[in-house]
Amino acid sequence: MNWTVIETVLLDMDGTLLDRAFDDHFYVEALPERYAAARGMTVDKARERLVSLYRSVEGQLHWTDLDYWSRQLELDVPAIKDALRHGIAPHPDSLEFLVFLRKRKLPVHLVTNAHPKTLAIKMEKTGLDVHLDRMVTAFDVGCLKCEIDYWVKSEAILGFDPATTLLVDDDETALVSADAHGIRHLVHRSKSSSALPPQASTKYRSIESFHALMK
Ligand SMILES: [Mg+2]
Repeated sequence: MNWTVIETVLLDMDGTLLDRAFDDHFYVEALPERYAAARGMTVDKARERLVSLYRSVEGQLHWTDLDYWSRQLELDVPAIKDALRHGIAPHPDSLEFLVFLRKRKLPVHLVTNAHPKTLAIKMEKTGLDVHLDRMVTAFDVGCLKCEIDYWVKSEAILGFDPATTLLVDDDETALVSADAHGIRHLVHRSKSSSALPPQASTKYRSIESFHALMK
């Protein structure tokens, strides 16, 4: 990695800095379990229902909007997430990478689709925010990272130069829209969950661990 050409670093949260195993468990296991208990239905039936509801808002801001899901499912979704916070964990290499970037004195910003309530729970649990300069959520800019507008508006907020900016994200659709906006240095994190094997990108440089960038 040629760090001399990088002036700003943008990092995704879920799957990139944090282990996505928590989120997969939350949406596929924990939430269906709570929904099933509240509605008196089987967990399988509840999961089927929820997965189809998730799919119906894929790519939209509702997708990560905890308040939307509280209304939709008639459950206190932020409270359920907060009760499970013990499962939230950074990847084993994340802290080391953030310290590495601090030593290089580069501005480091979090760019996330997460809802502000999710962000608050995750930063309180992990303490990673002390290593970050700014944090921009999809709710600050009004759309998810798969939209070019996310990058247009986050550039206006953060003031980065796309030509000298590095983005690391586990979501290829976010890299594609960042690419279209002109963000020059794009890296895909292929190992997003400790519970799943790495899934490399076919379009972008893929790394399993930040160690590949720390040289
Ligand atoms: Mg992610």
